[in-house]
Parts: sequence; C-alpha cells; structure tokens
Amino acid sequence: MKLIFEKSAEGRGCSILPPCDVPEVRPEGFEREKELHLPEMSENDLSRHYTELANRAHGVNNGFYPLGSCTMKYNPKLNEEMAALPGFANIHPLQPQHTVQGCLEVLKLAETLLCEITGMDGMSFQPAAGAHGEFTGMLLIKAYHDSRNDKKRTKIIVPDSAHGTNPASAAMAGFEIVNVPSGPDGCVDLEKLRAAVGEDTAGLMLTNPNTVGLFDKNILEITKIVHEAGGLNYYDGANLNAVMGIVRPGDMGFDVIHLNLHKTFSTPHGGGGPGSGPCGCKEFLVPFLPGPRIAGEEELRMEYSQESVGSVKEFYGNFLVVVKALSYILCLGKEGIPEASSNAVLNANYMMHELEDLYDCAYPRPCMHEFVLSLEKLKHEKGVSAMDVAKALLDYGIHPPTMYFPLIVHEALMIEPTETESKETLDEAVRIFREIYERAQTEPEELHRAPRTTVIGRPDEVQAARKPVIRYVFE
Ligand SMILES: *Cc1c(COP(=O)(O)O)cnc(C)c1O
Repeated sequence: MKLIFEKSAEGRGCSILPPCDVPEVRPEGFEREKELHLPEMSENDLSRHYTELANRAHGVNNGFYPLGSCTMKYNPKLNEEMAALPGFANIHPLQPQHTVQGCLEVLKLAETLLCEITGMDGMSFQPAAGAHGEFTGMLLIKAYHDSRNDKKRTKIIVPDSAHGTNPASAAMAGFEIVNVPSGPDGCVDLEKLRAAVGEDTAGLMLTNPNTVGLFDKNILEITKIVHEAGGLNYYDGANLNAVMGIVRPGDMGFDVIHLNLHKTFSTPHGGGGPGSGPCGCKEFLVPFLPGPRIAGEEELRMEYSQESVGSVKEFYGNFLVVVKALSYILCLGKEGIPEASSNAVLNANYMMHELEDLYDCAYPRPCMHEFVLSLEKLKHEKGVSAMDVAKALLDYGIHPPTMYFPLIVHEALMIEPTETESKETLDEAVRIFREIYERAQTEPEELHRAPRTTVIGRPDEVQAARKPVIRYVFE
C-alpha cells in the first residue's frame, strides 16, 4: 500500500476556502522558511486511502478480540450518539458556567453513580487513562501522609501479579517500590506481605482481579494488614467488568481507586484514545482530588480545593468519554451492571473449561473475567511457542490474546473473551484454538511460518518498538 505522500499529486485538493475577509497579518520572524509538505489529493482518493487503512486494522467490528486485560468488548453505538449531541460536543470549556449546567450535571451524576458502583465518596474525571488515574491516586496517598506530617512513608507495596503500570505509576509519583510475590495459588503471599509492611509503608497497590484473572480470596486480610501498618490501599479497577455491581472496592478496605471508562464503561479504545481513568477515593481523601470539582445543588459550579494535589489534565479531562459512560450505566441500570459482570466471568470460565484438556491453565480454578494459559509444555515438546499460536490465530481472523504477560507465567497467553461475545463466537474460537493445537502436533513448522494471510507476518518487534519509523522523510 502506498503512503499518502506517495499518492499525492500537485495541485489536487479537496478544500475550497472562501476568500479571506479580514486583513492578512504576517508577523515577522514567525513565517515558515521551508515549504509545508502536505499531501494533495482529491476527496475521493482521500476517502479510499483511509478506508484501505481501516480495512487493515482488526477491531471489535471485524471479529473476536480476546486481548487479555484490555477488555476489547463491543460498545453500543447509542453511547456514541449521546456523546455526539451538539449540547455535549459543541461546548467550550471556558463557556460561562450557567450555560453548561447540563454538562455539569452529567459530571455530577456520573460521579455519583460510579461512586455507588465502587463504594467511594468522590471522584475526579481528570485523568485521561488508567495509568494516569493510578498516578493521580498515588499523589493523593502522598498528599495524605504529607498532611499528617508523616514523612517517612516512602514505599508502595506492589504484588508481582499487578498490572505493569502499577509500579511505574508509583515510581513516577516518587515512591520506592516493594515487590511482594504471589503464592502458588496466584494470590498475594500474606506472610511476605506482613514482612513487607512497616513504618515506611505509604500504601499498597493491588490489581484485583489480578493479572492472572483471580480474585484474591484474602482481600480483606490484605487491606487490614496495610491499614494496621498505617498505609493506604489502592485498587486498580481497570477491569471492573469482572466485579461491578457485585462487590465494591470501597467495601473491601480500599481508600483510592481508578477505573478505565475506556474498558469497562464502554468507550472504544486501542490506538490511542481518547480515554478516561477517573480516580475515586474515600471521604477523607476527597479534598486532595484534582480540581475543579462540581459543587452546588440547584445551580452547579466548579470549585477548587485548597488542599488539592492540583490539576493533572486541563478542565475535566475527556468529557465526552464520561457522557458515554453515563449513557452506558443508565442503559444497563441496576440489573444490567451486575449481569454484564456475570457474563464476562461466565464467558471466560466457559472458554477456559473448553480448552483446559489441551492447553495448560496457569491457575486451574474458576477465573474472573480472564484466564491465563501456559504453553510451556507445548514449547518444550513441539517447539511451538505462545507467539506461534498467537500468530496462527491471525489467519483465522482472531486477534491474538495478550502474550508473555503476566511475567510470572511462562509462555503465557492471557485470554479475555469479554461479556459481549455470544456462545457461537466462543465455540468457534474454541474450535480454532483446538485446531491450532492439533496442528502443533502434526505440522509445528507450519505454525512458525504463520500468519500467511496478513499484510505483514512477523515484523522485528524489538526494532519496531525501539526504532519506529513514524515519519515520512522527503528526499
Ligand atoms: C489497561 C490497564 C491499565 C492501564 O490503563 P491505560 O488506560 O492503558 O493507561 C492499568 N491496570 C490494569 C489492570 C489494566 O488492565
């Protein structure tokens, strides 16, 4: 496929601007020295170009997308329609507040409902993504200890089954990371946790369900150990579709959380956003939340708290994502929210059950919204790796699961079917996984050469990550 610059033909275009009706201004010293290279194309060719690009991508609209921990579920188009309403889409953040009362009400209602779902007392929609929400949560924990003049709490405990962003966010916020290992059951090792906490513990960051798809059965004990040591508990709720409407982090002893609206609460994602990673907390931490926050009853207004950790993004964050989340929550209602979670868990357990006689489950017990296979044995016996199986899936029109993560499982494939897939889709995926397993027995070398049907097969991934070519260079 040609790049858009290679398709460009001089003089061709698809924009007609009206004549300028204001005086032209050419501020000295600011004019560009070189010609601005923009592709010149007709509207028709431009439209075909982007359609061709879109056809090369795999999205939920193309097929099954069981990318573990990413919740690539179907997002109802209704939510897009709500977010596109002119009253939401065509406003300006600096508009007088009395002209955007409806939008402030959306923020307030979304906060109220998400607090009810999570058991929190306040929430900020400023963070633009999950990791950003984690970072904000870490700032709250820091602000809390600082406000008590408790300066020695410099460490955040992160279990090895946490999402990779957890230790990164805590480190970004200036904390030292203390890693605690999981036991053979995939849960936090309580004895190791007891040994890790102390006067220097600022808090614990827990991904629950963790990255092996398990709900930690000792959750109450874990949060108690940390509280008794004077630390706070942070809940990574990116994958809340495993538990929403069923249990609440706030009832499990957690003080701060983040959610991924672009996973659980129905905003399409992948490829860079926009997302939303609201950070919620218990009452005693609310004053530290990033501002502005919505206040008032009849006439809503924005308020800044003196103790706030400050802004982490301009205005309210990605407002239209909040509109989609609210639309999703109101559509599902009190019955639909737990039903979505139940289906996410049911689908994962169904697939795991249908595969576990061929593939080894890393933790062979009921899972939450996702499960992890280990292909260590297949690799050892037949030389077929998790990478080979993932690549082979592409030829069947299935997006690969998350690979080689979590790090505590060797040759890992982490599968998250999500709640929006039908039994027929799951059965077909199971059939394909089983067929690939059979092929690994009879023609393993074929699998090393997969995929056959995609535009590119096996790019040099290290090179692609370290030295991406993302800019066209003119001769
Ligand atoms: C996706 C995810 C994150 C990070 O979210 P981003 O929006 O990609 O920053 C954090 N924790 C868990 C458990 C996740 O699944």
